[in-house]
Formats: sequence, C-alpha cells, structure tokens
Amino acid sequence: MSRYWNERLETMSRDELTALQGERLQALAARVYQRNAWYREAFDRHGVKPGDIKCAADITKLPFTNKDSFRLTYPLGLACVDNRELREFHMSSGSTGTPVVMAYTNSDLEQWAECMARCYRMAGMYPGDSLQITPTFGLFNGGFGFFHGARKAELFICPASSGNTPRQIKLLNDFQIKGIGCVVSYMLRIMEVAEEQNVEFPHLKIGIFGAETFSDKIRHKIESTLGIKTYDIYGMTETGGVGTTGMDCEVRNGIHVWEDHYLVEIIDPASGDPLPDGQTGEVTFTSLTREAIPVIRFRTGDISRIISRERCACGRTCLRIDRITGRYDDMIIIKGVNFFPKQVEQALMEIPGVLPEYQIILEEHHGIQDVIINVEAEAGVTGFTVEKYLKEKLGFSPRGDVFKPGELPRSEGKAKRVVHRIID
Ligand SMILES: [Zn+2]
Repeated sequence: MSRYWNERLETMSRDELTALQGERLQALAARVYQRNAWYREAFDRHGVKPGDIKCAADITKLPFTNKDSFRLTYPLGLACVDNRELREFHMSSGSTGTPVVMAYTNSDLEQWAECMARCYRMAGMYPGDSLQITPTFGLFNGGFGFFHGARKAELFICPASSGNTPRQIKLLNDFQIKGIGCVVSYMLRIMEVAEEQNVEFPHLKIGIFGAETFSDKIRHKIESTLGIKTYDIYGMTETGGVGTTGMDCEVRNGIHVWEDHYLVEIIDPASGDPLPDGQTGEVTFTSLTREAIPVIRFRTGDISRIISRERCACGRTCLRIDRITGRYDDMIIIKGVNFFPKQVEQALMEIPGVLPEYQIILEEHHGIQDVIINVEAEAGVTGFTVEKYLKEKLGFSPRGDVFKPGELPRSEGKAKRVVHRIID
C-alpha cells in the first residue's frame, strides 16, 4: 500500500502547487467578499477587491484576520454559507473570554478528514490498524478531529476520550493498540502510571501528539522509554482543527503543511511584512478550501520559519516549517531577558536526574518579578544545580525548587506549565 494517502496532491510539483493555490485563492477571495459582510467590510477598508487577486503571490494584498475577528463576530458572524448547511462546530475558550467558533459544512468535515488521513498515513497507520484517541470528544476539536480522520483512513478506533488513566492503560494492551493520539503531557502521565503498575505497551508503535509544543528532549524520552515513533501534529480551531495544517514526517525536518489546502506565510509580527524563507516570524494561514468559515491570513501567534520548499526525502513536495517554538503571547520577559517555556523544558531535560514534570511560576511582588522553576527530580538533584544550569543556558537566574517524583500537579489535558502569581 502507498506510503502516501493522496500521492498526487502530496507530491505535485512546486509549479503545479503554486498554480493550484492561485486558482483557489482567487475563488476564495470572491466567495468571502460576496457572502460575508464582515469580510466585505475588511476588504473595503483595506482597499482591495476580489478582482485584484490573480495568483498566489497576491495574498499579500489581502487583510489579516486574527482571534479578535472570531470573537467580534461570535458565534457565526464569519460564516460564508447559509446556517442550514452547517453540520458541526467546535470551539476553543482561550484565556480571554469570548470563545472562538469553527463551524463545518459536509465538505469541511471531508477536508478535515482528508488532512488527518494524510497525517495518519505519514505516521505509518494503515487500514485496520488500531488507534486510541485520548483527547476529549466535545467542543474542543481534538477528539473529533482524530475521529473523523481515522474513519476516513479506515482505522480501528478506540474512542477512549480523556481521563481515567488506568483504563487508558488497560485499553492500550487489551486491544493491542498500535497508535495513540494524545496531548504530550498526558502521554507522560500515562507513562508514569504505567511505570507504577509495572506495565509495558508491547503493541504500541506510534504516538501522534498535538496541541502543545514539546522539546526534542521530551520527544526522545518518550520514544526511548516506550520504543515508539512520535509525530508532531499541527492545527488549531481557526484553521479547522487538529491535523489541518500538517505534521512532521519520519525524516524529522520540520512540519509538512498541506499546501493545497493552506497557504502559509511567515510575517514580521510587528510590521506584518512577509519574511523571506528561513527567517523566524509569526505563522499565518489562509484556508483555501474551507466553505463555512475560511480564514484569510490568519495570524496564529505561533513562531516558526520556513525550512524548505524543496521535495523532502520522504517524497512530499509541500513545504516544511520548523516545529513551533512557542507563541508570541507565551513569551516571558524577565529583567530584559526573553524566553519561551519550551526552552526552559529543553534546558531542564539536559540536567541528569531531572524528570519531565515542571512548572514555571512567575511571581510578582510590588512590581518586582521573579521566576521560580518547580521541577521533579530524582534524589541528589538540588535547587542550586537547576539554578546554575538555567543561568548558563538561558541567561537569567530563577529560583529552582526541586520536588520528589509525583509531587507536582498532573493534568489530563493540556498541562498548565506557566503559572502567574501576584503577592501583595
Ligand atoms: Zn517529509
């Protein structure tokens, strides 16, 4: 069986791909302008007409969208179809109140399933292979995204949903599960409980992890402990959910973006200007094929760069972006030094005896900020060791507090790695 889900579209030449993007972008601009008042107003304000869009490169003429575009039009003000054509919606709450809603027509659900099916095949999942889905089935897009794609890819689905870790472990072995879809911090939790129970997973071969950034060190730890291959899957509510924007392949040279469906740009977050390939900036996506709520130049806040537009060693031609370093709004600035939680994680994992559970506490006391790193470690690791190493690696001096294994709080969804605390 082919190692591609959709060989023609995954391996088409750069010229063909660019031409296809151009056609789709033209049609998209016309469609949103005609069918949605919010988009029409945004185009008018920006002084652009659908007729100005003639090829993929004309993308830079269009206005940006962002999370606020969704929030201001809550719940369905960005829809470009009649509400009676909608079949499902998902929603993310975020930290700032009004949720972001993504609605789907039949064709959108099909597009989601197609993108996910490509990811499954890229990870080495074939019809009949078993998959355990551990993200929640609900408003969060994770559970259903893995599900729709797995239906299309003809996998044998274990819809475990989140929580009840002992049962997850039992299901993994009772059903000889080959692949698991997971948030990386929950995989760590499963591994921890399995270790307590002295249980191994001889059948598990593939882990597909999304929704959280994770360092290469954590990745290596999971792979070496479980003897599995892991994949970093990308996608968010606004682009249509998990897997829509791509995943990394076995070559491990960045995330393949499904470019026939998404036009990706890296922009300077301050000026909004497009950046040349190789330069790091903010990732933006234009969803070329989505009907219900397409996004145009959606500013994700995620930080990455384009690695290459050349054919990858895996044979796919869609471009590769770096695994996400972090988000601009996650960036922590302490005493003039800025860093991302993922960098702290990477540094911590380099210290012998330090375990994967950690928290970054940002404490503010009368306007003075301090960073405290809570981390679990084996006996012998001291706070001083942690402080010294982070000072060398990241250039700031946090306080290091070392905890015994199992002492820090655990999560069954996305882990809360950064905690803000104000002390009067
Ligand atoms: Zn590849």
